[in-house]
Amino acid sequence: ADDVALDPWGSSTVSDYRKLFEEFGIEEFDEILDEVPNPHYLMRRGVIFGHRDYRPVAEAMRKDEPAAVLSGFMPTGDPHIGHKLVFDEIIWHQQQGADAYALIADLEANSARGMSWAEIDEHARNYLLSLLALGFDPEEGELYRQSTNREVQDLAFDLGAEANFSEFQSIYGFDGETDVSHMQSVVTQMADILYPQLEEPKPTVIPVGPDQDPHVRLARDLAERMRFFKVSKAFASFELEPDERELVADFYDRLEPEAFDDEMLRCTHVAEALEETPLEDLAVDASTLDSVLTKLEEGGMEPLRPRTRFFDRRATDEAFDALIDAIDGEKRVYENHVDAFELDREAAEDLAREVEVANGGYGFQPPSSIYHRFMTGLTGGKMSSSVPASHISLLDDPEDGYNKVKAATTGGRETAEQQREKGGKADECPVYELYAYLLSGDDDEFAKRVYDECVGGERLCGDCKEQAAQLMREFLADHQEKRAEVEELLEEADIELES
Ligand code: SF4
Repeated sequence: ADDVALDPWGSSTVSDYRKLFEEFGIEEFDEILDEVPNPHYLMRRGVIFGHRDYRPVAEAMRKDEPAAVLSGFMPTGDPHIGHKLVFDEIIWHQQQGADAYALIADLEANSARGMSWAEIDEHARNYLLSLLALGFDPEEGELYRQSTNREVQDLAFDLGAEANFSEFQSIYGFDGETDVSHMQSVVTQMADILYPQLEEPKPTVIPVGPDQDPHVRLARDLAERMRFFKVSKAFASFELEPDERELVADFYDRLEPEAFDDEMLRCTHVAEALEETPLEDLAVDASTLDSVLTKLEEGGMEPLRPRTRFFDRRATDEAFDALIDAIDGEKRVYENHVDAFELDREAAEDLAREVEVANGGYGFQPPSSIYHRFMTGLTGGKMSSSVPASHISLLDDPEDGYNKVKAATTGGRETAEQQREKGGKADECPVYELYAYLLSGDDDEFAKRVYDECVGGERLCGDCKEQAAQLMREFLADHQEKRAEVEELLEEADIELES
């Protein structure tokens, strides 16, 4: 289990899920299953095995409050039954009331995988057709392509200002040879993840395979850093002397999420008050400084002390009085809120976020994620887009699908006799996975019956594969029929498919 290192562009199998819980802090999905309204069968069967911070999303869906789901597809080949897991996850969240987003990661496919634009165009269309055929509602949800979404590009640019190369080095192992487009595709992906919150911050889940976790962790970090981004940018537009810059930096250090307490909340309000008063006017002469400081300290504004050198520089008492008034006003608002919420941390955070957004800040909530198991390849090992026999493409001829299942490796014993005696190893069987992940659909009883019959020795691999192969043939025929039906829907969705 040494290959647990998570590399979003590698092809290693995550062989030891337990390590993910211990080393990377991914939480077990089972523990929150009860909190999820109408859990999807992939959740009930443990295919979705882990999450980061999924509670707020589950809660929002339970209470009919705004929530969002987003996932992206790198169009490097045909969509296969492994991708169907993510399609299903997006669609299910949409059906539970979340705003749903699906995007084509064309920049990533081009920069990280070297795909040509012509190949990308063709694959992109195939992914979207399957997504629509499986039930994604394009009128309620949004489909887009990274390279043509201007808002994503703008957000990526802002995010880039908060990320730096050494960070990418430590997270992704980038080095001096890494090309700049690859780095750009990372910030674009961060922008994708935060895009559903651009208009309004809300709990957002990103369903992915565990190899994508580094992206999720970085996005969660950046979300925190971006909360005050626009406010601090307003400050940056003033012409400041180097020592003044230091003071501003110091001020913003205090807004770090780790330092969150009511001091931070006060800082938020002060920042808001400062926003309304041009910095040039913000100053006092030495004689008023003391009384101002006293006022601030009485008002619990002690953290402002380092800024006093600021005020010292260019004076107008009037402007500063206005500031004090503004702060007093804010303080009253704040106190009312404190009473109302009894300053419970979560409520305080929400309030701080409201203020940030009112201030033109992004106010992002750290995105949540859920993780599904990888499907085992039909030939054993990992299911891979580049090994046709290992997977079943959603575009495979139904007859080929049938044949691939018939040729799959199983968890069966060497002889029928042994199988009857000891039972099959369903937990290690790619064919059983097909039943659990796809062929049983919502029917838990059926999946369970296959499992019990297998491990109980009542089911033999020949018949079992025949049944699975027939179901696969039906599924593919049905899916492809639906794909043909939704062609029109894709036209209407008007997503730019040509690069
Ligand atoms: Fe797999 Fe079916 Fe054989 Fe059991 S009986 S090992 S589930 S193919």
